[in-house]
Amino acid sequence: MKGIKRYCIIVLIMTFGVICNGFSAQAIDKEFGSIAFQHLSYLSQNIGERVAGTKGEERARDYLFQAFEDLGYDTEIQAFSYTNRGTTVDSANVIAIKRGSLKEEIIIGAHYDSVRGVEGVEDNGSGVGVMLETAERIKDLKIPYTIRFIAFGAEESGLRGSNAYVAKMNASDIANTKAMINLDSLIVGDNMYVYGGLGKKGFVRELALDIGKEIGIGLQTNPGLNPDYPKGTTGDWSDHAPFHQKGIPFGYLESTNWEIGDMDGYTQTEKHGGIWHDPSKDNMRFILSEFPERMERLNSYSHILTKLVLQLAAAEPSSIEHINRLVEYARDEGGITNDGAARALSTHLTAVKHYEDKGSIDKAAKHMKGFVQLLEHQKNDGQISDKAYHILKVDSMALEKKWNK
Ligand SMILES: [Zn+2]
Repeated sequence: MKGIKRYCIIVLIMTFGVICNGFSAQAIDKEFGSIAFQHLSYLSQNIGERVAGTKGEERARDYLFQAFEDLGYDTEIQAFSYTNRGTTVDSANVIAIKRGSLKEEIIIGAHYDSVRGVEGVEDNGSGVGVMLETAERIKDLKIPYTIRFIAFGAEESGLRGSNAYVAKMNASDIANTKAMINLDSLIVGDNMYVYGGLGKKGFVRELALDIGKEIGIGLQTNPGLNPDYPKGTTGDWSDHAPFHQKGIPFGYLESTNWEIGDMDGYTQTEKHGGIWHDPSKDNMRFILSEFPERMERLNSYSHILTKLVLQLAAAEPSSIEHINRLVEYARDEGGITNDGAARALSTHLTAVKHYEDKGSIDKAAKHMKGFVQLLEHQKNDGQISDKAYHILKVDSMALEKKWNK
């Protein structure tokens, strides 16, 4: 056993070298992926199997509660029970909140339980690790929206944790939740995917794909080869499903391969088929020996998720009202120091709104372009901060793009 342990440590160090090249950190001075890997290692090696209702799941829950608390999040445990073959099973979600000044919120979720017999490296230590890394990266940033991280219990027993959470949401909770991002099984699949809803509700997926392109990561979406799962979407088999059923737009990150097997996303790799739920494969030793370079995915997904959350939480591409709120927010937070500048922006938005209300969408789009030019001008004059400029520009351009479609 000692030999195996030493082997693991050497491989871990070697793999860590792979993870540690790449992107420069934004919010904190650590390489993307490194924090996710630490948490993943603890969950899979120090705790191991985390079956719902067992000591393993409870230990993982305590660990996650402490990890979020240590980061300074307002953290709570949401207990729930369900019946499985006549026996009551107790589990719980761990919820960590960073409150913003606006009522809108973004939820990021990953289940921390596992099936029996696995270390749960892939399913789903990987998702929990990336979630915690993102929590660490954004914890000190001023973000308009509320950010809520949820580590779900008992996903493998039928999405129990996410169902329990959604069952407690009231109508305004649902209306204020602008997006839910689910992370489940991120390392070993042949390709990196993001899925979302159909039509306008697919905006989280589209944004993630844009970010992937921008930072040079080969993120793609389900090509839709299987008619049961149209292009861009996925099945209702993970914690995004209860949110999706309530009409909340979702994004879902996963590594698998939609072009092999039954083309249902279930066969993750050409080399070894599905890794998840297989005790001989979903463990550190197997993954590091068969797919060592794919640990790098922790880096890629942490980078994408951090950017995705920041963009979603500051900029919802939907309305003039929203951009107006962002102007107010920027002024309150000191991003716009000059009252005249704030007034000029509001006046311009009122004009755009006027055209929108009249149904002159072409004119509205043209004036929205003018708004972006005004922002640029104000930034160059030092009237608004770079950050305020960026937040307002992302949202404004998204709105203009929507109108130009
Ligand atoms: Zn899973």
